Amino acid sequence: MSGVVTRFAPSPTGHLHIGGARTAIFSWLLARSQGGKFVLRIEDTDQARSSDEMTEAILQSMAWLGLDWDGAPIYQSKRFDVYNRYIDKLIESGQAYYCSCSPDEVEAMREQAREKGLKPKYNGRCRSLGLGPGPGRVVRFKTPLEGKTIFDDLVKGPIAIENEELDDMVIRRADGAPIYNLAVVVDDYELAVTHVLRGDDHVSNTPKQILLYKALGFPVPLFGHVPMILGPDRKKLSKRHGARSVMEYEKEGYLPEALLNYLVRLGWSHGDQEIFSKEELLASFTTSNLTNAAAAFDPDKLLWLNSHYLKAATPRRLALLLDRHLQERGHAGLDLEYLEKIVPHYQPRAKTMVEMADMCEFFVLEDEDLSYDMAAVEKFLTPETRAHLAQIRDRYALIEPFDHAGLEAATQGYLDATGLKFKVLAQPMRVALTGKTTSPGLFETMETLGRQRTLARLARALDL
Ligand code: GLU
Repeated sequence: MSGVVTRFAPSPTGHLHIGGARTAIFSWLLARSQGGKFVLRIEDTDQARSSDEMTEAILQSMAWLGLDWDGAPIYQSKRFDVYNRYIDKLIESGQAYYCSCSPDEVEAMREQAREKGLKPKYNGRCRSLGLGPGPGRVVRFKTPLEGKTIFDDLVKGPIAIENEELDDMVIRRADGAPIYNLAVVVDDYELAVTHVLRGDDHVSNTPKQILLYKALGFPVPLFGHVPMILGPDRKKLSKRHGARSVMEYEKEGYLPEALLNYLVRLGWSHGDQEIFSKEELLASFTTSNLTNAAAAFDPDKLLWLNSHYLKAATPRRLALLLDRHLQERGHAGLDLEYLEKIVPHYQPRAKTMVEMADMCEFFVLEDEDLSYDMAAVEKFLTPETRAHLAQIRDRYALIEPFDHAGLEAATQGYLDATGLKFKVLAQPMRVALTGKTTSPGLFETMETLGRQRTLARLARALDL
């Protein structure tokens, strides 16, 4: 195992969305491609906005995408004592101090700075007062007054911030709760994280975190900030662009490998290859090909990838998925072997499993529950075509075995005997068997339906 350790650190204040999922995928790929470790940390310090239900949903989304993590997830809410120990160390070493200024006083200091055209910040009044703990007192970090904090971002390149731009940030609130930036640094150190990959909404936190690493004497990891995903209109991505949470994609019948492949390519490339198996990703992933240009979400490309993976999946696997989607529509106790025969008819055309369930529902409806497109019935089931269907049904009753070849031969025999063209019979038969005017090829449809359903449906159509 190499020394590479990465982590994904979601806040369980909502579902895992595609931006977060993409960061998780990059971190996972970096660790796994190097034989390193990938850890999961739940950043639930904001207890009012976090919930166990969301944590569960995030873990479920990660598992669905196949992003396995090492060890048990770490929960920040259980580690306040640890963070406070490090805060005490900073106080003892004179790198942090108690501050008794009230929020109003701090706001007034900011206002004063603004009036002078300076960056609004705390003016350091309590910095050298040597105050001890007391009600209403926060702990602030003594940010160096001069010098620069520099880091070489794996995605954005070198970034430098003048320390005087930065505030003496609060690291412990008056109620004793540690502040986010401090907790992240302590955790990343204790987990021995070597590479932090995250969204570039965090880029302004990084210099503050680096100063804390240095003050605590911790080695500083490498940072890479990936740009946010945009909507097709280049505005901030939202629901209205068709973006959903990971588990909503699952519900809508996407395959995890399609979403994974899609998200990786949104911000990373390897030549112009579009389709990657997990093995190929693990073999070719490096952070040097992460791009700093914000990528736009493209639902059509995701659908295209999903169709690709649906074609490649085994009918058995899709039959299990199809069963679940059909169950949601009230079809219980379906025969998996029957579903496994249905699936290949739709693998070339369905873009999602939901679409597949829509298209194939007629196969699993009880014969007496099949509903008919009545306009098609009027148009195609004329007295004349019904008479032909009755005859051809009698021939189908005798086929042995009841398969594509037998059905085709029996149909041809009837056409030869009557001098009819197949197209005269095809749509009437399709309407009779499926209730609608589109379906896979008739002979394969009938072979899959089997003799009993085929005959029952032809009979029922005669009585419509
Ligand atoms: N909890 C943060 C978020 O969900 C991640 C912070 C980090 O990766 O350092 O945005």
